[in-house]
Amino acid sequence: MGGTPLNPLIVLGATGSIGQQAIEVAARTGNEIHTIGARSASTALLELARKLPDTRVCVVERGEYRDEFHSALGDRLHFGQGAITEAAATPGTTVVNGIVGSAGLSATLAALYAGNRVALANKESLVAGGPLVLKALAENGGELLPVDSEHSAVWQLLVGEDRAAVRRVILTASGGPFRGRTRDQLAGVSVEDALAHPTWKMGSRISVDSATLMNKAFEVIEAHFLFGLDYDQIDVVVHPQSVVHSFVEFHDGVVKAEVGFPDMRKPIQYAIGAPERDAIDHAPFDLVGTDLTFETPDRETFPCLDLGYRAGTTGGTAPAVLNAADEVAVDLFLNRRIPFIAIGSVVSTVLDRHEATMPESLDHIREVDAWARAEAGAVAGDYGI
Ligand code: MG
Repeated sequence: MGGTPLNPLIVLGATGSIGQQAIEVAARTGNEIHTIGARSASTALLELARKLPDTRVCVVERGEYRDEFHSALGDRLHFGQGAITEAAATPGTTVVNGIVGSAGLSATLAALYAGNRVALANKESLVAGGPLVLKALAENGGELLPVDSEHSAVWQLLVGEDRAAVRRVILTASGGPFRGRTRDQLAGVSVEDALAHPTWKMGSRISVDSATLMNKAFEVIEAHFLFGLDYDQIDVVVHPQSVVHSFVEFHDGVVKAEVGFPDMRKPIQYAIGAPERDAIDHAPFDLVGTDLTFETPDRETFPCLDLGYRAGTTGGTAPAVLNAADEVAVDLFLNRRIPFIAIGSVVSTVLDRHEATMPESLDHIREVDAWARAEAGAVAGDYGI
């Protein structure tokens, strides 16, 4: 069951980086775009809605654009909390979930319970709600295909392989803009420094999460749920060129890698169309003159990586706490309320205070999420600038 490659698309987070590239990919693959959705109304969303006149438009908050959206879109406009999850449950569609933050989890669950394919770019779905997502997959037969470049790589490397033959996966990390610095050197870094990612162009939260290595911590947890791996089977290596997107090492000693120059349209297209491979106009792959280097991550300067292993190994609601506390800490950093190096300290303290239990439901995750946010806000006061 689940999606076929030419399913109509529900593009959630349509004005974000993944959403825009998914729309671009759809123009090439011939997938119809059925719905575009975003958290907030914006001129960018309205412009997109005008460019795609046959789409349904879902928005959680209309805000100041209320009248403009109604007069421009009429019946095409669906709004409110439920609009996004209802759209995700449209039967026979492929849902590109590019929502940023824990709001993406309910859309993933709704899509899977409707038997849809989910092209997943929303990290929080698996980080905050991994056990719920696995349950939805087991009960309803939807499909989950990762859009994240590292997980897409592992997914593609495992095609035709017996998962029991996997010894470990090695996720690559670019190391972010602060690779090679010491903890002391990070004390005074600015928001602008943190947003200057060397190889991937991304939204602001994920850019900061890449700078702290928290993004890689989330990816370790995602890999655990996507591929059924224990945490001691998931390693991370820093690879600044972002050409190798990940490795899989098998029990017979064979190691496979997926390589290519960074371009998110490739994993997006694979997640939408797999197992088909549509042609993409691309420069021929040429490594001549490119040095590929690999380093051990600096776990002292970037303690967030180990926080991911710690929360993942604890399991239950701990990864949801990791995610929510980080979302708050990153937001405070972006608003220049706490320094960069306080992000890990805030998250670590909130994890210390949490008693993990098995997540029972979406409401349970929401309660834990709200608790972690409040705690993070309170803890951050101790680190305020
Ligand atoms: Mg990634």
